[in-house]
Amino acid sequence: MAARQEWSMSDFEIGRYIGEGKFGKVYLAREKQSGYVVALKVIYKAKLEKYRFHSHLRREIEIQHSLNHPNVLRLFTWFHDEERVVLVLEYAARGELYKVLRAAGCFTERTAATYVASLAGALAYCHKKQVIHRDIKPENLLLDIEGRIKIADFGWAARSNAKRHTLCGTIDYLAPEMIEKKAHDYAVDNWTLGILCYEFLYGSPPFEADEQDDTLRRIVRVDLTFPSTPCVSSEAKDLISKLLVKDSSKRLSLEDIMKHPWIKKNAEPSGSCIKQREVKKTKIPGLKSEQKDGSILF
Ligand code: AMP
Repeated sequence: MAARQEWSMSDFEIGRYIGEGKFGKVYLAREKQSGYVVALKVIYKAKLEKYRFHSHLRREIEIQHSLNHPNVLRLFTWFHDEERVVLVLEYAARGELYKVLRAAGCFTERTAATYVASLAGALAYCHKKQVIHRDIKPENLLLDIEGRIKIADFGWAARSNAKRHTLCGTIDYLAPEMIEKKAHDYAVDNWTLGILCYEFLYGSPPFEADEQDDTLRRIVRVDLTFPSTPCVSSEAKDLISKLLVKDSSKRLSLEDIMKHPWIKKNAEPSGSCIKQREVKKTKIPGLKSEQKDGSILF
């Protein structure tokens, strides 16, 4: 894997600071020649060395760079200098799904179904490319300016302990076979989709408990109950029940998720539940020009 040496920091106008991960900072930026808006993830080599993360990052960059799907955050390119590795990423203007979900409490069936269908499509694409287990949990999912969901984390940042503990304990999304340390395959993603679908509709994951050990026990027993509020349709519950199945070979396939009556009835084919006039009203703080298509540029 050779980095595109022709890119450097001087090709970008740096905008506002977006946030910080374990290995560095994320900034809004604009490629000077094209005006294309991106997010730059600046990772400090010293930190990578401290945590022995070099080869891990390299592998994850290779994976993400090879993926091109509307619901997978694009990694356009990357470059490095003495101190830093810089990832040039698609900018997700509406930020973390996690925060949107916490602010809303829970999503409507239309929104939830649209996200689940988008994720099922993205995962089917990843699986076809032999890319498994995307660690899909709300804090690894971003929303673009049109409200389309993007799988944003390809393992390397999510596997950092800081992220796991500070943002929220991630055991809620573990499939039973992982807890029981059995061999696991693509079907762990289908389990996680069931967990996310539940969390989108009810506001919290299904096996949540005060003690982590209790959560683990509830997952292994598939101790699934549906509260009476908020009121959720029986079709949605049917889909969740067909994904949260202990025997991984019996879980609904990604193709069958797309054919499920609840998805057919509720999911927006465009992948977005936001009206165009709301999109137009959305300002990107710190930047003036219109977004341009970066896929031509990189
Ligand atoms: P991370 O290093 O991935 O943990 O990201 C640090 C912060 O930047 C988090 O709040 C992310 O949601 C945000 N962030 C990371 N990548 C992007 C992106 N491509 N677009 C918008 N926000 C991002």
